[in-house]
Amino acid sequence: MAKKGIGVVQVYDGLIPAMRREGHTLEQISDRVGVTRQRVHQILKKFYPDVQPIALVEYRAAEVIGCSTYRLAILRKQGLLHPKRVNFYFRYSREDIKEAFLALQRSCPHCGEPVPLKNQIKYCLKCSADYRRNSYPFKSEEGKRKQLLANASWRERHPERAKEIAKKSSKAYRKRQKERSINQC
Ligand SMILES: [Zn+2]
Repeated sequence: MAKKGIGVVQVYDGLIPAMRREGHTLEQISDRVGVTRQRVHQILKKFYPDVQPIALVEYRAAEVIGCSTYRLAILRKQGLLHPKRVNFYFRYSREDIKEAFLALQRSCPHCGEPVPLKNQIKYCLKCSADYRRNSYPFKSEEGKRKQLLANASWRERHPERAKEIAKKSSKAYRKRQKERSINQC
C-alpha cells in the first residue's frame, strides 16, 4: 500500500497538493487521482504536511463562517463577495472569508443591535416587526418631511376620506386607551 502511495505521488507530481491548496475536498482529489479518500489524506499528511487549503469551496466557507451556504450565495449575488470561480465552483480565499465575516456581522441601522446571521433582513428582529407596523420612524428627516407633505396634500385632495380616517383612527385610539387602562387595573 505504501509503495502504491509513493507511486501516486510520483505520477501526479504535485497535483494532489495543488488541488488541496485550491480548496478541493479529499473526495474531489480522490475522484481525480483515482485512489481512495483515505489514501489522499495519508499522502497529504505524509508528504505534504504543510499544505493548507487557501481557497475553500462555498459550503466549506459557510461552515467556517458559521452561516448557511444560501446566505453566502445571496451576498455573492448582491456583489458583496467576489470569490473566484474554479471549475464551476466558487472558491473562497482567506480574504473572501474575512469579507464575508464583515458583511455578515452587521448591526441594525436603526438601533445598533446585531442582526442575526441567518436572516435576510436589514433591521434586527424587533425593528423589522416595528417597521412592518409603521415605517415612519425609520425614515430620514428628509423622508419624514416628504411623508408629512404628501399626507397633507392627500388630505387636501380627499377631504371626505381624510375626515373618515381621522374619525376611525381616533376611535381606534380611544379603544387602545381603554384596553390599556383595563390591563393596568
Ligand atoms: Zn434594531
